[in-house]
Amino acid sequence: MSEKTSDATPSAMSRRKVLMAGAGLAAAPLLSGAGESVAQASEPAQLKGPFSVRAYGTKGARAGFAPMQIQRRAVGPKDVLIDIEYAGVCHSDIHIAHSEWSETPYPCVPGHEIVGKVSAVGAQVSKFKVGDYAGVGCMVDACGNCENCLADREQNCLEGTTFTYASPDKVLGGMTYGGYSERIVVAEHFAIRMPSGANLAAMTPLLCAGVTTFSPMQHWNLKPGQKVAVIGLGGLGHVAVKLGAARRAEVTVFTTTASKVQDAKRLGAGEAILWSDEAAFARLANHFDLIISTVPQAYPMQRFVNLLKLDATFVNVGALDDLQGLSGMLMAFGRKTFAGSLIGGIAETQEVIDYCAARNITADIELINPDEIDRAYARVVDKDVRYRFVVDIAASKRA
Ligand code: NAP
Ligand code: ZN
Repeated sequence: MSEKTSDATPSAMSRRKVLMAGAGLAAAPLLSGAGESVAQASEPAQLKGPFSVRAYGTKGARAGFAPMQIQRRAVGPKDVLIDIEYAGVCHSDIHIAHSEWSETPYPCVPGHEIVGKVSAVGAQVSKFKVGDYAGVGCMVDACGNCENCLADREQNCLEGTTFTYASPDKVLGGMTYGGYSERIVVAEHFAIRMPSGANLAAMTPLLCAGVTTFSPMQHWNLKPGQKVAVIGLGGLGHVAVKLGAARRAEVTVFTTTASKVQDAKRLGAGEAILWSDEAAFARLANHFDLIISTVPQAYPMQRFVNLLKLDATFVNVGALDDLQGLSGMLMAFGRKTFAGSLIGGIAETQEVIDYCAARNITADIELINPDEIDRAYARVVDKDVRYRFVVDIAASKRA
């Protein structure tokens, strides 16, 4: 594969068109005449007003998951109705379900890696038809007009992005509910085209884990032969290894789990190093062009920042709480850059899906039933996921 990762990149022109569609959509009266505006509704009676959907959610930080009913809005002119088949389990779901970042509004239905089949489309929808596969990542709305939205950065919307769950729902009121559910209604701009015939369950995690690790590689322009380190081999980390290897970068994994060392190499890393290996840290000082940290909580980062080359960048995507132990002196002497990064925009999410589909890149997944979510969360926290749990919503509907 060549260093040009832009072969799947929508042109600036087509990106703009997608964006303008989104901008119009933000202002569209999604509920007015919604029933009439559905062009191809398989169950039009359910689509005239908000309707009830089976979901799996939690009513408190330690309450555990249970089936519940939630409301979905009627399908508006620019909306699609997706019958969900798969929902990935991201560590962010755990942070939020457990109120680890702030007090979460309950009930909470997580899930922001969502794939399913389009079962109805609004009259003005052009991106999808009934029967297509669609994905939803971490966002379901943004203003579409601010400078960040206009730059395809809806995740950084200056008016406030509406995230897929636990975010104020501008249409229905209340909070948004995510993918651990049987159906979702979403504006077409925020739905991602999924390739037909692909291994959709294993592509599902790309909608968050994929774009979150792809975006820094794009932004900091990771090139073939450059050296990238990935810290933490979990859901995001293992996709980062695959994406780095696909770019023909030299990938090094830093893991706390000895049993993952061989796996890291199978996934495409040249080397995997235990955090306890001080000799390796000494050997790799001033070595990396880019470091991506996916560790889910704060830890002393400076010993990793020291491994950057002059002018190189450490991108933290994992620890979203207060950071620990950065040395102003060491950052200055090595002119190191420390950065954060949040998922990616809609165009970039489509790009990573297309990029991975073209190269057969998928996540390593373990399919679970909805009644196994609590157990899966415990295993993720124990660093015992290989490497992403995906809830098999389709199978649970048949059961
Ligand atoms: P994950 O599957 O749990 O993977 C995290 C990995 O980090 C673990 O497998 C483990 O790898 C390592 N790790 C875990 N706890 C650790 C600790 N206390 N000290 C050192 N290493 C530890 O999680 P994920 O789904 O990949 O998500 C990772 C983080 O990214 C989460 O905090 C999540 O909220 C965040 N996130 C951010 C964005 C964004 O846009 N910025 C998007 C999605 C997720 P080893 O066993 O290899 O050490
Ligand atoms: Zn996520």
